[in-house]
Amino acid sequence: MDTLQSQMQTLKTRASVCTDCELAETRANVVFGSGDVMTKLVLVAEGPSAADNHTTLPFSGPTGNLLDEVLTANDLTRNDIWLTNIIKCRAASSKGGRLKNRPPKASEIKACAKWLDGELTLVQPSVILCMGAPAAKVLIRRSFRITEERGIWFTDTQYAPYAMATFNPAYVLRQTGEDFTAMRQVLVDDIADAVRKLQQADEIPRLTLF
Ligand code: SF4
Repeated sequence: MDTLQSQMQTLKTRASVCTDCELAETRANVVFGSGDVMTKLVLVAEGPSAADNHTTLPFSGPTGNLLDEVLTANDLTRNDIWLTNIIKCRAASSKGGRLKNRPPKASEIKACAKWLDGELTLVQPSVILCMGAPAAKVLIRRSFRITEERGIWFTDTQYAPYAMATFNPAYVLRQTGEDFTAMRQVLVDDIADAVRKLQQADEIPRLTLF
């Protein structure tokens, strides 16, 4: 029987040649999820950045550096989690001969859902932390509002017993001064909360033994 790693590699290989939406025309590379397939903690953001589009890794460049910092503050690295996006190709439009980032269209998110579904079905996380509203709208609920519902745990979602949303590090990076410091701390604290929830989820099967 195939190992989990080889099943994920097969999924990645299939996704790497996907042309199921128009983003295939402007991408340099498909950016599949990365990390530990055996983890129970999955972080999901909106989509690949311009840097990711070239490195093929999610959260590369300055945003990835910030993510690494807030993971390190919780004694984690990206090798301890599964890190992915709701779409696997950079969403960009050509303007004046140059590609400019834009939000993904609903049709693109729908076309790409099979890859995210494949990843989450293989990993079977206990905890999903959505980074930003677009991921939360897909994985928690369509009406999700980050300003009102960040930090709230949801237990009625499709892929994990616990799901919550925090800010996207890319958004935090656009803040300055005290706002940046405060939002960076929110990221650190929300990841700490996710780790606590993971430990709680881990205890449930053991508690039911007695
Ligand atoms: S965004 Fe997803 S569905 Fe669209 S081409 Fe890329 S991998 Fe395929």
